[in-house]
Amino acid sequence: MASKKGSSPFFLLVTLLAILQRPHFRCGAQEVIPIGAIFEVGTDEMQAAFRHAVAQFNRMNESANGRRYELQAFVDIISTADTVKLSRLICTQLSRGIFAILGVVSADSFSTIHSYTNTYHMPFFSPWFPEKVPVPTSGLMDYALSLRPEYHQAILDVITYYGWKNIIYIYDSHDGLLRLQELYQRIKPGSNNILIEMVRRVENSREAIQFLQTLESIDRYGRKFVVLDCSASLASEIIIQHVKDVHLGRRNYHYLLSGLVMDDRWDERVKEYGAINITGFRIIDTERPIVQQFFRTWEALDPAIYPGAGKPFIPAQAALVYDAVTLVADTFNRMLKKKPDTFRSYLQRNKGESLANASRALNCSRNAVWEQGDRIAKFARKVNLEGLTGSLRFGEDGRRENFTLSVVEMTVNSDIVKIGQWSEQTRFQTVPAKYVRLPATPEFEKNRTYIVTTYMEEPYMMMRKTEGGEELTGNDQFEGYCKDMMDLIAAKLGINYELRKVKDHRYGNENPNVTGGWDGIIGELVRREADMAVAALTINSGRERVVDFSKPFMDLGISIMIKKPVKKFPGVFSFMDPLSKEVWMCMTFAYLGVSIVLFVVSRFGGAEWKIEDSHVAFMLTNHFSVKNSLWFALGAFMQQGSDISPRSISGRMVGAVWWFFTLILISSYTANLAAFLTVERMVTPINSAEDLARQTQVEYGTISSGTTLDFFKNSKFAVYSRMWEFMNSRKHVFVRTYDEGIRRVRQSKGKYALLIESPKNDYVNERYPCDTMKVGRNLDTKGFGVATPLGSPLREQLNLAVLSLKESDDLARLTNKWWYDRGECANADKQETTQNELSLSNVAGIFYILIGGLVLALAVAFFEFLYWSRVDAKKNKISLTEAMKAKARISITGEFSHLHHNSTVS
Ligand code: GLU
Repeated sequence: MASKKGSSPFFLLVTLLAILQRPHFRCGAQEVIPIGAIFEVGTDEMQAAFRHAVAQFNRMNESANGRRYELQAFVDIISTADTVKLSRLICTQLSRGIFAILGVVSADSFSTIHSYTNTYHMPFFSPWFPEKVPVPTSGLMDYALSLRPEYHQAILDVITYYGWKNIIYIYDSHDGLLRLQELYQRIKPGSNNILIEMVRRVENSREAIQFLQTLESIDRYGRKFVVLDCSASLASEIIIQHVKDVHLGRRNYHYLLSGLVMDDRWDERVKEYGAINITGFRIIDTERPIVQQFFRTWEALDPAIYPGAGKPFIPAQAALVYDAVTLVADTFNRMLKKKPDTFRSYLQRNKGESLANASRALNCSRNAVWEQGDRIAKFARKVNLEGLTGSLRFGEDGRRENFTLSVVEMTVNSDIVKIGQWSEQTRFQTVPAKYVRLPATPEFEKNRTYIVTTYMEEPYMMMRKTEGGEELTGNDQFEGYCKDMMDLIAAKLGINYELRKVKDHRYGNENPNVTGGWDGIIGELVRREADMAVAALTINSGRERVVDFSKPFMDLGISIMIKKPVKKFPGVFSFMDPLSKEVWMCMTFAYLGVSIVLFVVSRFGGAEWKIEDSHVAFMLTNHFSVKNSLWFALGAFMQQGSDISPRSISGRMVGAVWWFFTLILISSYTANLAAFLTVERMVTPINSAEDLARQTQVEYGTISSGTTLDFFKNSKFAVYSRMWEFMNSRKHVFVRTYDEGIRRVRQSKGKYALLIESPKNDYVNERYPCDTMKVGRNLDTKGFGVATPLGSPLREQLNLAVLSLKESDDLARLTNKWWYDRGECANADKQETTQNELSLSNVAGIFYILIGGLVLALAVAFFEFLYWSRVDAKKNKISLTEAMKAKARISITGEFSHLHHNSTVS
């Protein structure tokens, strides 16, 4: 697992390091126990740990009383899994009379060594076993012991603890696949619903990153849980590549490193970027005294001789090798303690005799076995010892027992901390984690001039115009809200800065055609062409993945800007407005209907008939003729009443409901009339995003590079995605800059609306010619932030500076200065709103009706006059002219003439 195969499979490198250094000073003859060791190339740290362990044992044993023996190691280093050559090597090892063998090899070589050691009863110690180890036929003993515990369950328990459902599994070896199988088998169906969604074998970090990129293109924002089963070096390479890759999210990823790779020293670069969640296992508890004591000796070693030493940490693999030696040494110690002469006949005295001649050495061609092998293996299993990797104890099946793993986590904000521990008995238990902030980013340099990129946009950043038209240079050329804010920030941080306009005049969207994958301001930060960006730059998740933002300095939302509709002045018939046309119509019908009903009920209801004496005869009369019914209803409707009033019950009922009806209707009308006549209403065709989405007459668009466009593109909300489809199908609705969009709003006679960020909307509405307005609520809420490249040393201080400016009201002052103090529309609006009294034009309509009615009445009177004059003329047999004269006289003087006494009765 830890080593790779050599390039040529037939090349076998055999290096006999012979006997490890012996102490120079020795007192008397030494009994020497020979052990064999086989390492694969690329296991330098493990070899160092092995040599250190042997040397340390020999040295300590020497100084202790009752010293009995010394370890003598024969070390072979192989670079291939060629079975024949490996077999030969093992036979050579056996022929040296070794008591036990240690193998630090990959899975292929392991099985060869394993079968030899079982055949010759040679105790075989291995820091780890491959996933699948053939079990010896029943009844036979397995001479191999693995120092690394099995902890598949721990991986599943951690996954369950986090509640991950869908897992991406990336591995780099056949063993990784077997481990996956084991995990699958342990997942109880239905119990925890863990689904291993995707599995991928990778050879190197490039492949892994490519794979993640494809996942990213399918689901950009989803959270991804990756179980990474690979060597420590590959794992850290993948993670470093990941955090550096601008296309990959960081905060939505969580890696679980299933190997014991967290014991390794994590590359500082991972922490430097500090923006990824990693969980893993540690087997070495650095708090334990035995580990600390080990580090003291390990640190003192020369790394040139002992690769990997000289530092206060050791990878888990090397620690397991160290523990294997401790275990071997302890086994012999215990055996000798029990029976001091147990090895007498096998022990070589260091008298210089040839090793090959050593008695009882095994020979592969003979059928002998290592007589003490059985006992040694049994003793080894009974060990109860403290090692670097915890307590060393084995069960009947040779598996490690009673071990504890620490579960550690590194998050986007915290250095590696222990969050829990796992043991077979207690399973996963959390421990209170004290998150350690990642080491502060290095101090920024104060006397450097930082490049600040910006976007020209009123009123955030504008070119300054001078009265005399002099040329300005440097930062003085600029003015605006962001310029003032940047001055304040620079003063707070004590830095110098140089403002530069963004080259492509864009805010920044993802763009695969440019270096770094982003254009605009964001692209310049990603490519590290600028140290900071101060502009109306919106914070969003896509950008946050590739740059760092300060806390927002201004809050905003997307809003709608339309052209102010021309004010609608009340017309001469605006008194009709309080009631809709339908109401007026229904009212007329109601009036006619009521009159007819009243007429009919009066005809049939007896109470309305009266007997009148007309001097000639008694006559039956009824006041409710059609004419009078109409008059009565009208009188009631106008709230005036009339001389006649119904006496029949039915007639009174009709009267009562009609009065009630008119009472309510007239009071509603009166209440509404005041509002309608006094307010010169502005009728806006569009009042919300819903209104926009519902129609196609008024076109609407956004600027073509910015977060507003992204908002609509990514929105899942039905109204906004409908709006996006509309815009996307008419590309001409997009504008390059806000200025272009505002111009379009102003010139399109209300047929174009711009989706614009609220502060700019407010600003433009306050500017001459004051013909734009904001309608509806903001579509979202977000903020503008100051951006820096990822991991910038400025980040933290910048954040504090922005917050303190916000708290001290400096930013509020700047908003007033650039938005409202410069407003050009405030006065115009005020003038208009004070004109509240009714003008003649508001009420002219009723005058027209009155005049019209009067003229009509005069005309009718004239015709009546003519008619009755004609009747009189006929009756009295005089000319029409005379009759008219006589009638006119009566009308004017009111005196009867004997001639015309009949004419007044009409
Ligand atoms: N402020 C926006 C940005 O940072 C640009 C304007 C917009 O998209 O409406 O991209």
